[in-house]
Amino acid sequence: MPAHVVVLGAGFGGLEVTSTLVDELGSDVAVTLIDRTDGFVFGFSKLDVMFGKATPEHVFHRYDDIVRAGVSFVQADVTEIDAVARRVSTTSGQIEADYLVLALGADYDVSRTHGLAEVGHEFYSEAGAFALHDELAAFRGGDVVIGVTAGPFKCPPAPSETALLVDELLRERGIRDDSTISLVMPFPRPIPPSPDASAALLETFAERGIAWYPETGVRALDPQLRRARLGDGSTLPFDLYLGVPVHRAPSVLVESGLTVEGWVPVDSATLETPWPGVFAIGDCAAVGTPRAGVFAERQGATAARRIAARIRQGITDASYDGRGTCYIEFGGGEVGIVEVSFFDGRPSGSLEGPSLALAADKREFGASRIKRWFGRDWTPLPS
Ligand SMILES: Cc1cc2nc3c(=O)[nH]c(=O)nc-3n(C[C@H](O)[C@H](O)[C@H](O)COP(=O)(O)OP(=O)(O)OC[C@H]3O[C@@H](n4cnc5c(N)ncnc54)[C@H](O)[C@@H]3O)c2cc1C
Repeated sequence: MPAHVVVLGAGFGGLEVTSTLVDELGSDVAVTLIDRTDGFVFGFSKLDVMFGKATPEHVFHRYDDIVRAGVSFVQADVTEIDAVARRVSTTSGQIEADYLVLALGADYDVSRTHGLAEVGHEFYSEAGAFALHDELAAFRGGDVVIGVTAGPFKCPPAPSETALLVDELLRERGIRDDSTISLVMPFPRPIPPSPDASAALLETFAERGIAWYPETGVRALDPQLRRARLGDGSTLPFDLYLGVPVHRAPSVLVESGLTVEGWVPVDSATLETPWPGVFAIGDCAAVGTPRAGVFAERQGATAARRIAARIRQGITDASYDGRGTCYIEFGGGEVGIVEVSFFDGRPSGSLEGPSLALAADKREFGASRIKRWFGRDWTPLPS
């Protein structure tokens, strides 16, 4: 009988765990992959749709397309997790596992920011980002605020990329001179572990007239006055507010008693939780790295190799190294790359680019993942 691994969440991390397990173990493993949705969308594709570079249909990858021996996809909501018994309750019934991987990502709590749902737009969910495509197309100019509420939040470069892409769009539409763009972030610099990338971004913000408000978050939006209130008490007027909402672990993890200080505790080298045979990866886990797909993916590969070694009753030196490669959109089709490292002393990272050549690298990054996970050819931006 093959060992049964149940992977909760078919996002960046869950897809990587699944494909690595099958590559490593072949017919010695049966993987059940569970997600409430019927397909996957890369985080960066949300910005591609928002800024009109791709359509929602183009960036959507149906889980039905995963045709690999040993993998069954179940579309269901996970409603309860018994980590001791490794038993999961879902809207399609109960499932027992030999090994369990928690890869449920992070949820958003829009209601924690007063006024956000009424007069702002969050651009972190698929629905929010996709709806903003029409909102941006109809925008006639005015004050644009891109605001982060508080950390941790997914993909720390995304708010800076959004500010630069808004700038590009408003220039293309001839309404940049009628507009202001402000970026509010609770960090001292745009990419804290990378002084080079931060300096390049700050220089680009200055060149393009983007106002930068560091070390503070947006606490609330005033629906009547249409002003964003920042953590330091000051306010900014807005005609268009693009927000990063408060993040939290999915409620099923909290209600199943699997979180400590909001997130699932893990050994950051092995990704195993305090419950034997239960691993947690990606945005839902307290690993000590930022919440981003590239980190979730590398954590997924490590967890899969450790599970594979246990199933084979072998040993492995697979250990998560806290590294990741982040792509940053600078506008004008140019992309920069930051290689970041979080576990070798002080977090650090250096910038390559930005350039058009690195944009091709980013496209290849997306294409290679879809080939590996779904077995089909795809390119992030349609030609
Ligand atoms: C605008 C934006 C741009 C980004 N750009 C980048 C980028 O360029 N590079 C990068 O590396 N990262 C980027 N990210 C971050 C990246 O998308 C996430 O960090 C990454 O997807 C995390 O992977 P994960 O596997 O932990 O979670 P996810 O990919 O979010 O997957 C979690 C899955 O769990 C499912 N789920 C949750 N709860 C339940 C439940 N109760 N029952 C069933 N299913 C459930 C969800 O449907 C989801 O499919 C970006 C994010 C945003 C918002």
